[in-house]
Amino acid sequence: MFEHLKAQPADKILALMQAFKDDPRDRKIDLGVGVYKNADGVTPVMHAIKAAEHRLWEEQDSKAYVGLAGDPAFADAMIGLVLGDSVAQSNIGAAATPGGTGACRQAFELIRMANPEARVFVSDPTWPNHLSILKYLGIEAMAYRYFDDETRGVDFGGMIEDLKTAKPGDVVLLHGCCHNPTGANLNLTEWQAVIDLMLDRGLVPMIDIAYQGFGDGLEADAAATRLVAEQVPECLIAASCSKNFGIYRERTGLLMAVSQDAGQRKLNQDTLAFLNRQNYSFPPDHGARLVTMILNDDGLRADWARELEDVRLSMLGLRQSLADELQRLSGSDRFAFLAQHRGMFSRLGTTPDKVEKLRADYGIYMIGDSRMNIAGLNARTVPILAKAIVDAGV
Ligand code: PMP
Repeated sequence: MFEHLKAQPADKILALMQAFKDDPRDRKIDLGVGVYKNADGVTPVMHAIKAAEHRLWEEQDSKAYVGLAGDPAFADAMIGLVLGDSVAQSNIGAAATPGGTGACRQAFELIRMANPEARVFVSDPTWPNHLSILKYLGIEAMAYRYFDDETRGVDFGGMIEDLKTAKPGDVVLLHGCCHNPTGANLNLTEWQAVIDLMLDRGLVPMIDIAYQGFGDGLEADAAATRLVAEQVPECLIAASCSKNFGIYRERTGLLMAVSQDAGQRKLNQDTLAFLNRQNYSFPPDHGARLVTMILNDDGLRADWARELEDVRLSMLGLRQSLADELQRLSGSDRFAFLAQHRGMFSRLGTTPDKVEKLRADYGIYMIGDSRMNIAGLNARTVPILAKAIVDAGV
């Protein structure tokens, strides 16, 4: 049997991580993998997570199964965090999932179950896992223009034009904030225009929100998702706790199915529980429990929000200093977009050849499409990167 297996394409990011590890140069800089790193290059456990884990260790007296959709208290807490009071809780079906990836996977499965004809419109580019999971599930992915190579902002005209080709019932996958891999985001006026178009054409939004708190703040980063959820008849929202709680390996996420028709909720909820059962039965609980404890405890929540804000501001600071240094060295404003981008990533917008040159000649590791993890930088490495970018003729 096993001899019939075919080799699968290697994950490019993981291959890059390995190449970085194997590189003996002292001055190498890792801007590859998508985890937050502090100025010492460490991905720390947040204080509030440690405190919640300590409390959990003392208080938890059973590891028995929870529910198929996870603990409802986790869903309630996360719905509050993502949606605020934009939608009545009674209209939302929700299930805990293994990370945001699990939430996306379950969302795609639900789409395929509900409407096998539906195509999923994805930004060009998007997080590569979107494409590979869609392909794996046999769902047709349709790219819509998103990144403008000239301005390094959003090609909004192209995006709207492409979304106009969607048919009623098609799904539009949108990044709630901090677009991965580009860092370029719609403003709220543009979001409203996309909502109007989706309403007009009967399209179903799916929002992937994996970086709430990394862009403009916890509330601001959720604003677009809320704008969508309160206006459309139905939508799917896949939320990840990996980044904003720093609990990557705990696999913590939530899929929400929002409907303006409260009568629909039970069916949505039961479907989400069914889908969990088919794929892995009970979702992981540890991370979800920590998140619930933090969000429901004023002290822990304030501590968490403060630390997250420090993380956000440190990335904004790095963006600004990189843009300033590039301005100084290149004598032009063509890198100003780096300070306008939001979240952990920016697409530099250069060719694979230049990306390879940066790696080979300067020990700078970024993804082949020129995505840089801004959190891979610190005050020492910003000038080194800026000089390499200019010297390499980017
Ligand atoms: N969506 C996007 C756009 C992401 O960048 C990520 C993280 N790389 C995820 C979802 C999900 O991450 P996780 O499964 O680790 O929660």
